[in-house]
Amino acid sequence: MAETRTKMLIIGSGPAGLTAAIYAARAGMEPIVVQGMQPGGQLTITTDVENYPGFRDVIQGPWLMEEMQAQAEHVGTRMVWDQIVDIDLTRRPFRAVGDGGDVYLAETLVIATGAQAKWLGVPGEVELGGKGVSACATCDGFFYRGKKVVVIGGGNTAVEEALYLTNHSEDVTLIHRRDSLRAEKILIDRLHANPRISVLWNKAVETFVGGEGTAGLVGVDLVDTVSGEKSHIATDGAFVAIGHKPSTEIFAGKLPMDAGGYLIVEAGSPKTAVPGVFAAGDVADHIYRQAVTAAGMGCMAALDAERFLAEHGVVGA
Ligand code: FAD
Ligand code: NAP
Repeated sequence: MAETRTKMLIIGSGPAGLTAAIYAARAGMEPIVVQGMQPGGQLTITTDVENYPGFRDVIQGPWLMEEMQAQAEHVGTRMVWDQIVDIDLTRRPFRAVGDGGDVYLAETLVIATGAQAKWLGVPGEVELGGKGVSACATCDGFFYRGKKVVVIGGGNTAVEEALYLTNHSEDVTLIHRRDSLRAEKILIDRLHANPRISVLWNKAVETFVGGEGTAGLVGVDLVDTVSGEKSHIATDGAFVAIGHKPSTEIFAGKLPMDAGGYLIVEAGSPKTAVPGVFAAGDVADHIYRQAVTAAGMGCMAALDAERFLAEHGVVGA
């Protein structure tokens, strides 16, 4: 098993991890990025990206991440194809273990392991992903301007997504499996006051239904969770909003987390409770969850890590 030493280990190769790498490499820190099972992160599973600054025309998520990785490598980042399965943060250098047993000893650590949307796991969901089925209204709502959309879920995220979608659509239906929402009252009040939103209570999605050929989503088959009655609602877009799960299992008991499993950082900073360990992007952010905010936090983590190394007498190459 190989043992590799580095001034900075970055776990995760989404916008947060790669931006941290670009800044760290340019500061001479020779960072190593462990890519994980989803090289490039969440944007590699989407198509059109229209809100990442710097591009007049629509760009593709996978292309953006290829470019980000190329930029990081160009300035001196080493990319490693591995998944971290265990970590020791009790002393420096921090010790991370890959799934093949390789060991990484790091003076500083940037955790950029992101979060994953929870999915329903019903037929049609995977096949129609990016073709009508989405988990991000801020990202994809624009594509449903003037069209009919549904949102599935009953928490804050679902209600916020439904409210946001009324900026684009006059016909938004919230589908919830129970007869009451768990979202905060202020959001529920806004939801009920909005004439563009209707709610279908006690309904669970059985199937996302696609049209002929490349038509994409055309409707959703539902079942009543009380009566068992089946029904169908025609729709152009379906937004699954049943929560997100941050990828923080390996940090359980090692770093403070909130009730949702998100890493806790100092307000306005990527610093975790362990000096020298920084967290950036969706793994520490349950509110914004955007590529540009993740990239910004990655930048902050690299700059803080650089300062940390200087304060501890480890300077750039
Ligand atoms: P992620 O992109 O989630 O990357 C996490 C990385 O960590 C991955 O590389 C993964 O392999 C790695 N990893 C996880 N665990 C480990 C481990 N144990 N060891 C090693 N590596 C690990 N945002 C926008 O701004 N605009 C959009 O248009 C947009 N569209 C989206 C469409 C979809 C379908 C989805 C799901 C999200 C979209 N987002 C969009 C949100 C955006 O993708 C995220 O906010 C952003 O990717 C978060 O970046 P991140 O670097 O924090 O984490
Ligand atoms: P959440 O509070 O866990 O709510 C998830 C919703 O999805 C629940 O209504 C749940 O139904 C439903 N659901 C879960 N699994 C389902 C399934 N398999 N089929 C159908 N429905 C399913 O998640 P969230 O809304 O993403 O919020 C997560 C956390 O972030 C919360 O703490 C929330 O307060 C916070 N948040 C805050 C804000 C804000 O402050 N503005 C915004 C967004 C999120 P049940 O109700 O029946 O369980």
